[in-house]
Amino acid sequence: MMGPAHSLSGAAVWLGGTATYSMVTGNAIDPAILVMGTAVFSGAALGPDLDSYTSTATRSFGIFGRILYYLTNGLSMIVHGATRTHNDKPVENGHRTFMHTIVGSLLMGLLVLGLTSIPGTTEIFGKTFATGQLFAIGIMAFFLHLGLAGLFSKQIKNAKKTFGPYLLMAASLAVTAATAVFLPTYETGYQWLAIVVAAGWYTHILGDTITKMGTPMMWPLKIRGKRWYDVALPAGLRITAGEWQETKILTPIFWVIVAYGLISNVLLLAFDVNLLQAVGLVS
Ligand SMILES: [Zn+2]
Repeated sequence: MMGPAHSLSGAAVWLGGTATYSMVTGNAIDPAILVMGTAVFSGAALGPDLDSYTSTATRSFGIFGRILYYLTNGLSMIVHGATRTHNDKPVENGHRTFMHTIVGSLLMGLLVLGLTSIPGTTEIFGKTFATGQLFAIGIMAFFLHLGLAGLFSKQIKNAKKTFGPYLLMAASLAVTAATAVFLPTYETGYQWLAIVVAAGWYTHILGDTITKMGTPMMWPLKIRGKRWYDVALPAGLRITAGEWQETKILTPIFWVIVAYGLISNVLLLAFDVNLLQAVGLVS
């Protein structure tokens, strides 16, 4: 899938998933987490392509995107080279390798968990903040930026010409800092953020698995002698990224799920109306 479809798929999985979860279990999700989660999930659904120099994700961060590209692509190359069997072809570029695996997604979640769990406090402008919380805000801003860059790629391309590449980054940070005030600060920290990042990241991999030549998501499990075996749909069912199957079928489906998730979540939180209960699907 192309960048915008990836972000949209992330928003769909998060909004549809949370709405269904809340309606089936009767557990409401905090509205601030719901809103920030939508942004972070759709951003994380763009994250794996930081390993590509020309992706929406990499370009959206200007010079920082290029640094992230060299880091993620370089790491992927090293992991690929170190673990490939004689059946795996060597690669000249790390795109769609390590960043596109289940282990890679879990690692991203663990990274978020680790950074947001750092104990201690940090002083900024004379105010004291929990260090872990500062990392959480930074991570949220990072993925909010990615999510916006994906969902509004056209508008942002135009705005970039007028205001330069760093306006969106500054705006994302400001919006996140303002939203952070409303986020519940659990004693337990930011597990939800780690889960959202890992799940969003993995949603991207699933998207690539159905639209491209596949992804080596099962690494390091050996399949047919390869550790970097590309998991893909059977040849006849494969969808070409950016083609009509994506724009005319997948994208509309994602929009329907986004609408279902939005409407159900709002009805439940604001009016205590359970849509699934109303149509008799849950008791
Ligand atoms: Zn990808």
